[in-house]
Amino acid sequence: MTLDTEISYLKGVGPQRASVLGRELNIFTCADLLNHFPFRYVDRSRISTISSMDIREPYVVLKGVIRNFQIFQTSKFSQRLTARFTDGTGDIELVWFQGTKWVQDYVKPTSEYIILGKPTLYNNDVQIVHPELEPYSGEDGSRHSYMPVYSTTEKLKAKGINSKAISKIVETLLRQPGLVIPETLSLSLIQRFSLMPKAMAMRCIHFPASPTEMQQALLRLKFEELFFMQLDHQYSRISRLRHSLGRTFSNVGNLFNRFYNERLPFEMTGAQKRVIREIWADMRSGRQMNRLLQGDVGSGKTMVALLTMLLAIDNGCQACLMAPTEILAQQHYDNFCRMLNGLDVRVALLIGSLKASQKRSIKQALAGGEIDLLIGTHALIEDSVQFHQLGYVVIDEQHRFGVEQRARLWTKNPIPPHILVMTATPIPRTLAMTLYSDLECSVIDELPPGRQPIKTIHATDSQRLKVFAFLRQQISQGRQVYVVYPLINESEKQDIKDLMDGYESMVRSFPLPEYQISIVHGKLSPEAKAYEMDRFKRGIANIMVSTTVIEVGVDVPNATVMLIENAERFGLSQLHQLRGRVGRGGGASYCILMTKEQLTTTGRQRIETMCATTDGFQIAEADLRLRGPGDIEGREQSGMLNLRLADIVDDEPIVCAARDEVKRMLEADPELQHPDHSVYRQHIIHQKEKLSLSKIS
Ligand code: ADP
Ligand code: MG
Repeated sequence: MTLDTEISYLKGVGPQRASVLGRELNIFTCADLLNHFPFRYVDRSRISTISSMDIREPYVVLKGVIRNFQIFQTSKFSQRLTARFTDGTGDIELVWFQGTKWVQDYVKPTSEYIILGKPTLYNNDVQIVHPELEPYSGEDGSRHSYMPVYSTTEKLKAKGINSKAISKIVETLLRQPGLVIPETLSLSLIQRFSLMPKAMAMRCIHFPASPTEMQQALLRLKFEELFFMQLDHQYSRISRLRHSLGRTFSNVGNLFNRFYNERLPFEMTGAQKRVIREIWADMRSGRQMNRLLQGDVGSGKTMVALLTMLLAIDNGCQACLMAPTEILAQQHYDNFCRMLNGLDVRVALLIGSLKASQKRSIKQALAGGEIDLLIGTHALIEDSVQFHQLGYVVIDEQHRFGVEQRARLWTKNPIPPHILVMTATPIPRTLAMTLYSDLECSVIDELPPGRQPIKTIHATDSQRLKVFAFLRQQISQGRQVYVVYPLINESEKQDIKDLMDGYESMVRSFPLPEYQISIVHGKLSPEAKAYEMDRFKRGIANIMVSTTVIEVGVDVPNATVMLIENAERFGLSQLHQLRGRVGRGGGASYCILMTKEQLTTTGRQRIETMCATTDGFQIAEADLRLRGPGDIEGREQSGMLNLRLADIVDDEPIVCAARDEVKRMLEADPELQHPDHSVYRQHIIHQKEKLSLSKIS
């Protein structure tokens, strides 16, 4: 039996159970099964008593008898089953909503059971809902006193595959004579870091004899996980640097020089200049650039993009800039046209909402080389968009683009273009180390001079009158105000209603003719959106009521107040982005976070973080710490990482160790020729095969 064997061949599994395991947990092979790690362990030797247990514990283990089943029909289709559980020191209630029949058949009133679950208080009675139970079989004192708990699903439980059943199957597998679990790390690495060997770690992670053993197994497996992730990224980066040729831009030409000397509206900051030099060095190197540009909101990334695009155009290539929203693409287009007016650059805008005929003629001009600089949204990656000579791609605010979308741009040309990915959401160090270890990195760590500090205030509905009075005062000084509503889902009726209600109440509190209000949201036609934006930009509207469509990139320096409604519904990085819309002009600026009175703990922590700092990196770190598993933003990012065991916040030291180790190894042996490294070379070859297979299918 090898790790590739299908689990249906395992004793006690069979085709039926195998197929549910596959469907529900993606467990198909023995390796998949072993990689389904327990998420918790229960020390069964630590049995509590009802009289002394602490109901704040995440779970308790109790030993006693189960009696007095009672069944309640709660609706036509649902039942509740309860029973009393007693261990001689007291009694509690057990509750089931599912599998009620199974429980009644399974439990014998005369037997003793070990039960396990989270105690809760309900009507002054302690209860445990859906406890795990198993017959008490006396003091077995076996190595299983430290019991693994596996995640399952309702469908699996219905087929009798609960955590305990999974543990049985894993045990069967590990007991197979002749089961070989190959080592995946080199011996020298294992020795140097005193890591547990793979086979032992696999046994210990499922059935540890002690907490120490479990910790050692976990450490070994986390290290391995992070090591291979680093290996994939760093290897692909190095082989790109060694093998993939890029266009060589050898001259700083007329366009760049004229623009820089005659048109630049301000002196570039030191950080902007440094970053341009870094990009320029890449463009000249003869290798393809893949660079990440990090810079906080308002640090002036757009000008870096523009100047470097001019360099590409000077060298006979086309450049394109991809933005996450149409509003932003439009804004870049307007600004660039204005700044480049009179210079010999042909600029075009390609967005989804153009008429088909307009799109067609832009695409033609693009393919014919009559456009030098193309700005657009996702529309740019459609297959029908073909360039004549694409040399440079800038992706603005990349967190809106998936890795795959980025990759599609790469492949548009026989010689891959240089790529600059700009992000305004500062990425926490560890995340950057893991997510972007395949990219070079530049940082703009300096804001343009004259930026006003932004004062952030938390307010609730009871303070609304005061808040509005403050808005009036700002407007009377000629300032402008953003009011933003969360629109989590543009098609959610409730969210749209919130926005429209909010707009109407703003109109009542800030009536015409004294006040003018713009409104922008995703459901508006592009023309209406552009019209409303324009009114605000030109200072005709005092107030802009909008959804988060303005979150990224919008630039109106005269706006000094950002009022965010239902701020508790936004994630930290979104709040930071929104706040970055103000504080750009001469005036002192404010961010007002309106929330309801009652906040969840994380909600409160987010608001407190926002009030405490404007430093994007600090906010990013806090964001990573506070993200719960239910958070969409968080899920997307950790989903990209695909980590089973390691946690990039808590395991930062392991992340660093793995990264350094891979770096050292690849510096000394970039092609992994050394016999010690043959496991890694095998891994890379295997990855490549997987990749080319997935391309075919
Ligand atoms: P972001 O990095 O968030 O994309 P932008 O490029 O939109 O920031 O720049 C924010 C604002 O700062 C814009 O109004 C831009 O014109 C201005 N700006 C950029 N660089 C400088 C500079 N060196 N000096 C003064 N203002 C600058
Ligand atoms: Mg920007």
